[in-house]
Amino acid sequence: MVHLLPELPYGQDALSPVISPETLEYHYGKHFQTYIDNLNRLIEGSPYEDMEIEEIVMKAGGAIFNNAAQAWNHDFYFQTLSPSTVEMPEILEEKLVKTFGSINNFKSEFIKAASTLFGSGWAWLCEDKEGALSIVQTQNADNPMTQGLKPLMVIDVWEHAYYIDYRNRRAAYLEAIWNIIDWGKVAERL
Ligand code: MN
Repeated sequence: MVHLLPELPYGQDALSPVISPETLEYHYGKHFQTYIDNLNRLIEGSPYEDMEIEEIVMKAGGAIFNNAAQAWNHDFYFQTLSPSTVEMPEILEEKLVKTFGSINNFKSEFIKAASTLFGSGWAWLCEDKEGALSIVQTQNADNPMTQGLKPLMVIDVWEHAYYIDYRNRRAAYLEAIWNIIDWGKVAERL
């Protein structure tokens, strides 16, 4: 099957000023598109040709894994953001407070994980099979599904996610993007 670039759930200027239209033009329109294009090229005639992206992520290695996982991760990332403020549903709030002590503490632990990740990668909130929550860092294209964890939210900390708008200030990007997380979507994934 040919994989297509998933549609953005909002307009290219909808996340401004947190994420500018120029960042979306490059991050969504070029980086994400390139992962999709590479994936389509690499799976042609391979055992992965007819698999959904999630199955490829779970089974492939090397360049096919990297491009499939980056495609999955970017779709999940863009789906996690919202142009308007979304209040955190109670079910999620209770679980986060139970795990991290308070929402403020969850935020500071998540942002610490995202800001201390060395190089390119992703910071995730995950749920394990017993329902326990954890903050997970992954390098490059890696995805916590391959460790048996269910992703609930993610922030992309590759430089291409913030360099146009924030230059080297990853912490400023993290502080700003926190305000456009769609907590309703995060809660739905529980
Ligand atoms: Mn990215």
